[in-house]
Amino acid sequence: MSDTDREKGTAEAGRSRRPLFAANWKMNLLSRDVDAFLDRLAHELEAAPRQYDLLLAPSPVWLDRMAQRCRDLDLRLCAQDVHPAASGAHTGDVSAQQAADAGATWTLCGHSERRGSHHETDEVVCAKVVAAQEQGLGALFCLGETLPEREDDQVEEVFSRQLDPLIDAIEEGAVQPDPLRLALAYEPVWAIGTGRTATPELAAQSHALLRARLRTRLGPEIAERLQILYGGSVKPANAGALWREHELDGFLVGGASLDPGSFLDIIRGCGF
Ligand code: PEP
Repeated sequence: MSDTDREKGTAEAGRSRRPLFAANWKMNLLSRDVDAFLDRLAHELEAAPRQYDLLLAPSPVWLDRMAQRCRDLDLRLCAQDVHPAASGAHTGDVSAQQAADAGATWTLCGHSERRGSHHETDEVVCAKVVAAQEQGLGALFCLGETLPEREDDQVEEVFSRQLDPLIDAIEEGAVQPDPLRLALAYEPVWAIGTGRTATPELAAQSHALLRARLRTRLGPEIAERLQILYGGSVKPANAGALWREHELDGFLVGGASLDPGSFLDIIRGCGF
């Protein structure tokens, strides 16, 4: 899609940043399921240029299988993680170059399940963003607070701690703050996979805090152009109310993205 079509679509959608709807399938779905998902999208998506972007993050074993169809459907194909090193003795890991070679165009970085169960630090997450962009991948940088951090009133400190290595890397020129190569996803850990969604007001407040941090450190131009998605138990029933908050530029959806019907209903719930 041309830049003019992208800008036109964003304006028609009534937003200042282009909406992005992302599906994180985690360690779910078999080959027949991913084929059926893509069949359904091919059937339902309009041929006309869309007013929003779509991103699918399957298990890495399906990247190659999905690559051609994602190109045909103009979908971003996203790895769920990449290793910061270019290659080497990292059993079970996937490098950014391997993900790109298999057809990925984006990768998640710093999902809370990786930060938690794989002990990824803020610095490691940032190194993954650098590695991804070096291989031409976009990075969907995930961050968010735990419940004890929210209850202890530490949300702003947590956001700064998680964001600052990324901001430093942008200042140093190691990460490009280009919305075609970088987006953020605010995912409060207490809302992921728990059925407990942030209220639209709380999500909007958090997004505003994140954008304020970007503005303070990087200036208004970069802060205004980067998308911030919301993630955490988004489903068809709550998508419309969340979407009314213009601070939210789209959703990163886990459980409700496993079924193409409910993923499409979330997008339709936002008026598309
Ligand atoms: C996620 O894993 O990124 C996520 C938001 O999951 P869920 O929608 O299931 O809470």
